[in-house]
Amino acid sequence: MLIREFISQANKSQMITTLLKHYKVGNVRVKLKSMKNHAHYNVDTGTLELSTKYKTIKNSQVKEFLITILHEIYHAMDSKKYGWKKFKDMYEMEMNLQIAKGKDEYKDNKYEIEAEKFGENYWKKWNSKFKKDGLI
Ligand SMILES: [Zn+2]
Repeated sequence: MLIREFISQANKSQMITTLLKHYKVGNVRVKLKSMKNHAHYNVDTGTLELSTKYKTIKNSQVKEFLITILHEIYHAMDSKKYGWKKFKDMYEMEMNLQIAKGKDEYKDNKYEIEAEKFGENYWKKWNSKFKKDGLI
């Protein structure tokens, strides 16, 4: 049995492309950026930022990688649904609401909670599919 310790950049890119297409956010603006997180949806600019820091990822990082990508894709889906400018306003209103309630603007933010749930719910399904495809 072949145990791959690292997942190549090509396989990583293919997984991202597959996910973006599947969730029909393939036309969302994508920007490559050097950053600590695997991905980040920039609400202010309506851009999905992908990290250039991890050229390859370790098998042990797959779960975190998939959850993060799915989480950010969920924001991109919301942004597509409402239009990114409107979504930016909705997101900011939600932040202000949580602050006014004395809660955390991110942790208690409904858009963050929904996005995280989406990642938690679907990462296993994609993990199996990508394994079957020989990508991980
Ligand atoms: Zn988020």
